[in-house]
Amino acid sequence: MMDIKSNIAAIRADFPILDTEVYKHPLVYLDNAATTQKPACVIRRIEEGYSRHNANVHRWVHFLSQVATEAHEAARQTVASFLNAASSSEIIFTRGTTEAVNLVAFSFGEKFVSAGNEIIVSEMEHHSNIVPWQLLCQRKGARLRVIPFDDRGDLDLSVYESLINEKTKLVAVAQVSNTLGTVNPVSEMIRTAHAHGVPVLIDGAQAVQHIKVDVRALDADFYVFSGHKIYGPAGVGVLYGKEKWLEQMPPYQGGGEMIARVSFEKTTFNELPYKFEAGTPDFIGSTALAEAIRYVENIGIENIHAYESGLLAYATQQLSQIEGLRIFGQSANKESVVSMQVDRIHPYDMGTLLDKLGIALRTGHHCAEPVMAHYGIDSTLRASFALYNTFEEVDALVAGIRKVKTLFE
Ligand code: PLP
Repeated sequence: MMDIKSNIAAIRADFPILDTEVYKHPLVYLDNAATTQKPACVIRRIEEGYSRHNANVHRWVHFLSQVATEAHEAARQTVASFLNAASSSEIIFTRGTTEAVNLVAFSFGEKFVSAGNEIIVSEMEHHSNIVPWQLLCQRKGARLRVIPFDDRGDLDLSVYESLINEKTKLVAVAQVSNTLGTVNPVSEMIRTAHAHGVPVLIDGAQAVQHIKVDVRALDADFYVFSGHKIYGPAGVGVLYGKEKWLEQMPPYQGGGEMIARVSFEKTTFNELPYKFEAGTPDFIGSTALAEAIRYVENIGIENIHAYESGLLAYATQQLSQIEGLRIFGQSANKESVVSMQVDRIHPYDMGTLLDKLGIALRTGHHCAEPVMAHYGIDSTLRASFALYNTFEEVDALVAGIRKVKTLFE
């Protein structure tokens, strides 16, 4: 088992950006839930892709096109193995989590949702896993139902069970909340939904980089995530869908690649996964995402999880000692995120002053306004950790907050 703590210097050396100085301070990057930094192998893969393998994919005639196509399809296989999908044809490349949710909301919704039906989401969802369903409900005259969470940040599963009925067509829920850090009991939630014959979409945007995900063990019907949050490039993401659903769903967008034959009288569609991949895909991004996944797998997701849990526990303990600091999201089952407010200091002011000390955090509603509404606040200061963060960086954060606090006093 790799001990990240004793190898942290070598790991940090893999990430060129971590050397950066900000206002003459070493960068302390704690905005990983927004996006992660990239290891040199991922950056190199993008450079090599464009400098050595660049040609449009699935146009097999010439050599470079074959190389590019094989690399792109190998990347799909890497993602399939990473998620333990039954087949790589269940892996659809998208622009990210947002596009993947929109794809399902549009296509599944087109086929299976009609007036009077219901979709269930939770109160702690990112806007990306709320708004596409609201748009679907508006289009179809369907209704959005919401699973509430308690003040600790745990979903109320008894309400969840009571919301499922014969009108329910789909449940869409985050595995890990980007604002509260709660790890939701998605396995149990999927079992409950399936007992009623209802499929489930899991938003894994904040999960795949922290915990082992096995879509078949979970029995998830759809699973979505973004490349840029797991040390890969922006602009590429993944929709996993069970073949039995994807086969029945109509195309999301029309264009090249997604067709079998086109005539003005009749167009037929390509097989999975190409039916859902209209136009030229980000074929360099996909290979860089595969590189990022290999990087994570080489270190070992269990090792990452163990190390980050240590960081989270240490940060929670140290931050809790600051008088007037309140942490939002205190679930016993949490990942890598600490959302907080300090006294009456507005998170924006705190974040701006911490930035002057080289500490990068996120302030605002984190695209989860219903979470803010739950607590009657408008924003929090959020620290979020990745595998390259250190215990010393947590100390720097704590010292930084104390310093800003004294300024305000
Ligand atoms: N879902 C969750 C839980 C997220 O944290 C995010 C991004 O912060 C998204 C969805 C949207 O991801 P993207 O902007 O990469 O599409």
